[in-house]
Amino acid sequence: MFKFNKEIESIFKAVAQNACDMGISAYFVGGMVRDVLMGIEIKDIDILIEGSAIDFVQKFADKFTNLDIVIKSVHEAFDTAKTVINGIEIDFASTREEDYPFSGCLPVVKNIGCPVEEDLKRRDFTVNAIAAKLCLQNDELNYEIIDPYNGNGDIKQKTLRILHNKSYIDDPTRILRGIDFMLRFGFDFSDGDKTLINEYLKSPDREGLSLDRVKLTLKKLFSGANAKDAYKYILENKICKIWCDKPLFKAEWADTLFDAAKIFDIPQDEIFLKAIFESSALQNESAKCPVGTSNFEIYNTYKNLKIIDLALQYAISNDKNAVFYYEKLKDIKPDITGADLLKQGYTEGKAIGDELSRLLKEKLNSIPRS
Ligand code: ATP
Ligand code: MG
Repeated sequence: MFKFNKEIESIFKAVAQNACDMGISAYFVGGMVRDVLMGIEIKDIDILIEGSAIDFVQKFADKFTNLDIVIKSVHEAFDTAKTVINGIEIDFASTREEDYPFSGCLPVVKNIGCPVEEDLKRRDFTVNAIAAKLCLQNDELNYEIIDPYNGNGDIKQKTLRILHNKSYIDDPTRILRGIDFMLRFGFDFSDGDKTLINEYLKSPDREGLSLDRVKLTLKKLFSGANAKDAYKYILENKICKIWCDKPLFKAEWADTLFDAAKIFDIPQDEIFLKAIFESSALQNESAKCPVGTSNFEIYNTYKNLKIIDLALQYAISNDKNAVFYYEKLKDIKPDITGADLLKQGYTEGKAIGDELSRLLKEKLNSIPRS
């Protein structure tokens, strides 16, 4: 049914064996099942244990010494463990249920080790609410698919459908996750989802909203190849109403933000996030250096900005002088130091400062514009 490479298959066999020995069930789940069913390369490996994941990986590491199992970290409260097995990162989670006391807040976790069907109820879309139980029969790996919401049907229809009508109210970041899947895989929200999203955006409940979760979800969205489209989509479809009423960031920055990440060597997600949440603190288009500005003036305009702010300034104003500053001016120093001037007989601090500034200006202004 499913085909994995030899390495992953031998790890899954060992996981299935360990589960069998412990008398519990292990599944792979979420995006991984979705990607396998879609026939695309899997991104991350998430194993779900119907029981305690920490207990599982500890017994697994003790018993399967033929595998190189490194337990990187455990999270006691959620009973999860991050591992690296034969060089492959594999996350283990315990089945759990989640409650949302307020719209948009971080969920309250309960019933760790619950039946897998209960765990699937907390998930975002039907396409991500499928589990595949790892079974060993005569040393052959087999999979039992658990798909209570017909996620496989929705994968075929390329449809994003939440599991219950309160889902976007519980966690509006699911709208952002849906946009990610839409842009990555060509999925579309079901008609019912479109209605629920529009209703939510008409009166979003921001009181208990976890802005950290919003930022984390956006970070993922802006790390990928569709950052520009995601940014525009969020503005054009007023998705930003999830966290604000009047966005200060503008759709026309999309291209320059994307370019700025490359030019200024800034992680793409950081500059898009900065544009969304912090652009008002920066200068605006009027900060552009006017034509005829000397190199020294350009230098002084930009010298106090952190590189990410410089990049954002460029993205907002499209001022090519910001690029010129970054590439040619920012590391320029006078050829001599204060100590050299002291040796030359300068005694007064102010005179030394003035002379160094004059030398810097001379050197900066001698650099040709390209
Ligand atoms: P990707 O290919 O981007 O990793 P993914 O679906 O695996 O996609 P993850 O962020 O890795 O996304 O999450 C793993 C699984 O956890 C999801 O498939 C989904 O079942 C569940 N999940 C993640 N975030 C949420 C959320 N906000 N609400 C409900 N379920 C979620
Ligand atoms: Mg994933």
